[in-house]
Amino acid sequence: MSIEGKIVVLDPGHGGASKGAVGPTGLEEKTVNLHVALLVKSKLESRGIKVILTRDGDYDVPLDRRVAIAKQVNADIFVSIHHNANAERDPTINRTEIYYPWEGETPSEDLATHLYLAFRRHIGLETLPPLPSTYRVMRENVEPAVLGEASYISNPENEHKLKRKEYLECEASAYAEAIINYLAAGKANLQITPQAKYIEVTGDDIDPVTIEVFIDGKPYSYRYCNGRILVPYPQRRANLTVKVRTKGGNIEVKSCDVPAGKPYPLDIKPCYPNVMIDPLPADPLNLRLARYIKGCLRTTGVAAELTWSSMLDAQTDTYRVDKIFRSSPHIVVMVSHYEPTLVEDGVAGFYYYLNEDGKQLAKLLKDSLVNELNMNDLGLHECSKYPIIQMFGPRAYIVPGVWHPYSKVEDTSYQRQIASIIANGIRKFWSDLVEPTHDNIDS
Ligand SMILES: [Zn+2]
Repeated sequence: MSIEGKIVVLDPGHGGASKGAVGPTGLEEKTVNLHVALLVKSKLESRGIKVILTRDGDYDVPLDRRVAIAKQVNADIFVSIHHNANAERDPTINRTEIYYPWEGETPSEDLATHLYLAFRRHIGLETLPPLPSTYRVMRENVEPAVLGEASYISNPENEHKLKRKEYLECEASAYAEAIINYLAAGKANLQITPQAKYIEVTGDDIDPVTIEVFIDGKPYSYRYCNGRILVPYPQRRANLTVKVRTKGGNIEVKSCDVPAGKPYPLDIKPCYPNVMIDPLPADPLNLRLARYIKGCLRTTGVAAELTWSSMLDAQTDTYRVDKIFRSSPHIVVMVSHYEPTLVEDGVAGFYYYLNEDGKQLAKLLKDSLVNELNMNDLGLHECSKYPIIQMFGPRAYIVPGVWHPYSKVEDTSYQRQIASIIANGIRKFWSDLVEPTHDNIDS
């Protein structure tokens, strides 16, 4: 993701009659803020970023005007630069604080987190985790917008440091590094455009696994093809919200009202499903099989993820459920192996009783293993024991064989065969499910 040509608005707090906080020997916050802003500006400009200051001298600018400047130039980032004070209560306080407007997960929170990490690296004071706030200068502003209080001017020792350019360079380096890291992780710049059959959502650098679409706050179907998110029209005028992360991890959310239209229910299913493979914790054999399945799926363009991928990950139900919720997969397949003492060797399929699609998926996967590997058929069973299997449709739980130290499933090439049969089954299941007929689309 190129950061060149991006527009950053830096906002040195206060100015003119508004001095801001004043240090014990009379150093004024407005002066330090401007110095830091100028240093950040030159660091960013050397990387090809366009920087606009809300003030470049000792004069005050109303808060509304500072916001208006950022919106006028359609800034990619707005950063307000301040220094805190707490002389009355405790002049020894000196720490770093970062504020962002709180509305759930937002780009501002991402940028605030980059700042948090950069301040710790470059200044090393006690640094509070990013704090949500309602400061005027961040409200109704561009996104992301944050406000930094890199240190306390009321602390006598720190006031002394703030008079030295080398120290201000540290603060400026932190700001510049955070801004560059944020931009390098990408901005999606989501655009929502109503087309004849679909509402089309486009953007840059989107990680397809992270797409979430909501109509009036409820999860809604979409199709992702060639970098475009296609959303069917709702049946009545409604609010559409699209939430994505870029491949670099930055979040972006875009909302707007969309008109009602003719729905195309079958046509909007994705060409390729997002699949979540959930190896039952915490067995390395389950994990290995899940990794093979993921590999098989990925080589054919199916976005596959694991609920946990290292024996070091947390593997609690909560962790796995949370992971599934966050990526909203189209299909969830849980895998594990039987304890040798429990049953004879063979393959069993499980489904949640309310999930008809899941039942068919479990049957297809089990039957494929029975037919292609001559596994013993241990049947198809209802199962409500695991929270994962109750969550999303379609989901299935497959137990391909008994584990014991000398069993075939320990053999890598045999496991690869099992994995490729399961992966093929998932693909077949999905194409049977979504293959649209012309009757469905054009009637
Ligand atoms: Zn201030």
